[in-house]
Amino acid sequence: MKIIDLLEQPVSIRSEIRNAWISFREMDCSLVAVVSDQIRGGRRIIGYGFNSNGRYAQSHLISGRFRSRLLEANPSHLLAEDGSNFDAAKIWSTLVQNEKPGGHGDRAVAIGAIDMATHDLIAKVEGLPLYEILARRVGRRDLDRNVFVYAAGGYYTERPQDLANELRSYLDLGYTHVKMKIGGASLDEDLRRIETALSVIDATRLAVDANGRFELGAALEYARALAPLGLMWYEEPCDPLDFATLAEVASAFPGRLATGENLFSLQEVRALLQFGGLRPASDILQVDPALAYGLIEFERVLALLVESGWTPRACIPHGGHQLALHAAVGYGLGGSESYPGLFAPFGGFGDMARVVDGYVKVSDDPGIGIEQKAELWELCRRLAS
Ligand code: MG
Repeated sequence: MKIIDLLEQPVSIRSEIRNAWISFREMDCSLVAVVSDQIRGGRRIIGYGFNSNGRYAQSHLISGRFRSRLLEANPSHLLAEDGSNFDAAKIWSTLVQNEKPGGHGDRAVAIGAIDMATHDLIAKVEGLPLYEILARRVGRRDLDRNVFVYAAGGYYTERPQDLANELRSYLDLGYTHVKMKIGGASLDEDLRRIETALSVIDATRLAVDANGRFELGAALEYARALAPLGLMWYEEPCDPLDFATLAEVASAFPGRLATGENLFSLQEVRALLQFGGLRPASDILQVDPALAYGLIEFERVLALLVESGWTPRACIPHGGHQLALHAAVGYGLGGSESYPGLFAPFGGFGDMARVVDGYVKVSDDPGIGIEQKAELWELCRRLAS
């Protein structure tokens, strides 16, 4: 049993939206195929992955040194003890060999995409949905295939008057909780936008996301203005690595904080837990395995969380993709982000998946279920052929 190729292709996911930092006009994403020598039912078993959204394609890293490392490794060093399947942890270790500590960033994103494809491959070889593989690895049983999902939208667009309609459309789709952007306008204007949103949804079901925009002064000013509203959470008030500012916000803001989508390694999460002032009983961690070295690293993050007095339910990953759903079921996370209609064809769940009262049921087809997204599956098919 061996891996015979690692393929990558950048795919545009451009759109005319912006958050407090970036526009998505140039956004693209790496689609990855890990091709095995295994044939089942006349078809080659191939794992597919991609790097979530918001961090651009990683073509050179993936097709360059990571592809070489994978294909040049001794095939038997990438297998489970009994040789019956590939071993995700061994593949991960092969990918990161000769990488210095620190400098997590695009490298973590590239490996996140490959790790997703590796896990899809392993689950297909075993003939199981990915969440079963993950649950077995961390010793969980009695899985609940229904995952809480909330609709992330409310971006800044050319038509601000559409905000209420947009959020209402998410409720019509079956979502019960939504998120909108702040920090890309003045505080006064953002408060007016929030007021518009509150004409559609209850404050406890509305989260706001500043995308790491604020310095200390503005972060606290927003915290003071948001506190009386009793919102679902206040997300990424400051730079993802500015733990001192985050700690000040945490001590001034009685509501729930959420952060972590721009932390790409175990070490960064450790620093966040030590210095960010977060409160395990209420705050939310949003590390996205597809951006942060994949599920192997994510399991280390979960172990650290538990060691630090948190529970996996405090994790609601960024990304809005099928991998996060499997992680939520397999590891017992608190849910997953969702971007209805955005970042196609990578965002969103299977074509037949429906959100009912804020929950979506994960399919039990083998792998991650990319085959259930017709448009994405067509891209995968073309890449592998
Ligand atoms: Mg965010």
